[in-house]
Amino acid sequence: MESALRIGHLYPGQMNLYGDRGNVLTLLRRLKWRGLDVEVVPIEVGAEVDWDRISLVFMGGGEDSHQVLIADDFRARADQLLKRFENGLPMLAICGAYQLLGKEYVTTNQTILPGVGYFDVRTEPGAERKIGDVVCQVEGLDLSLATLVGFENHGGVTYLGPDATPLARVSTGSGNNGVDGSEGVVRNHVVGTYLHGSLLPKNPHLADRLISWALRYAEIQDAFMADLNDEWEYRAHQAMLSRQSERHR
Ligand code: GLN
Repeated sequence: MESALRIGHLYPGQMNLYGDRGNVLTLLRRLKWRGLDVEVVPIEVGAEVDWDRISLVFMGGGEDSHQVLIADDFRARADQLLKRFENGLPMLAICGAYQLLGKEYVTTNQTILPGVGYFDVRTEPGAERKIGDVVCQVEGLDLSLATLVGFENHGGVTYLGPDATPLARVSTGSGNNGVDGSEGVVRNHVVGTYLHGSLLPKNPHLADRLISWALRYAEIQDAFMADLNDEWEYRAHQAMLSRQSERHR
C-alpha cells in the first residue's frame, strides 16, 4: 500500500553535513508519532522522480566539491520543482542546498555554479569561513516561537536581492553574510537557511510548520497536527540559548 505522505530527500549521499539527516528523521518521527503513514524517498543524481507523489522536499548542505557533483542534476529538476513551489510544495534547504536555490553560487576556488533561481540571492566566497552557533529571530514567518537555534559553517556569503524575504535576523552568529544581520530566505513554503545542527530536532516549531504545509499540500486533514510532548526538544533548544548567554556574560 502506498504511504499517505512522502518526503523527497535530495542527494542524501552527497548533501549531508553536520547532522543534516537528523532533519529528515525529525520530520519522519513527528509524522509517525501523529499516526501518519510516511515514507522517505531518497533522490540521487539521475534518479527518476514522480514529483506528484512527493509532498515535502529536503536537501542538506555539502562541501563545494559535492555541490559541483549535484548542481547540474538539481538544475535539470528546476522545471518540475519551481512550479510546484508556487503551488505550495514545501522544502527545507540547508546551507549548500540553500545556496543552489539562489541565482548562483561561486565556490571558494571561483567555480561558478548556476542555481535554480527560486530565491533572489547570490552567493560568493567570503573573506573567512563563518563557523559557530547561531541564534536568530524569525521574521519571514509567523511561528509559535520566533527563536531558532543552530550551527553554521560556510565559506560562501549570500546577498539578498530586492525580491528575497529574509527568514530571520541573527542575534548570535553571521547568518547570510555577517553584514546585514539577515539569516536565510523564505518564499512561499520554501525555507533556505544556513542553520545545521540538526536544525529541526531543536526547533520543533519550525518542523511543525513544514509538516502542516506538507499536510495541506497532500490534502491530508489538519487532525494529524495534534500537539506532541516537546519537553526534550525544548530542553535542547534552551541549552543552546543558555550556552550563548553564558558566552556573552
Ligand atoms: N560549500 C558551501 C560553503 O562552504 C556550503 C557549506 C555547507 O553546506 N555547510 O559555503
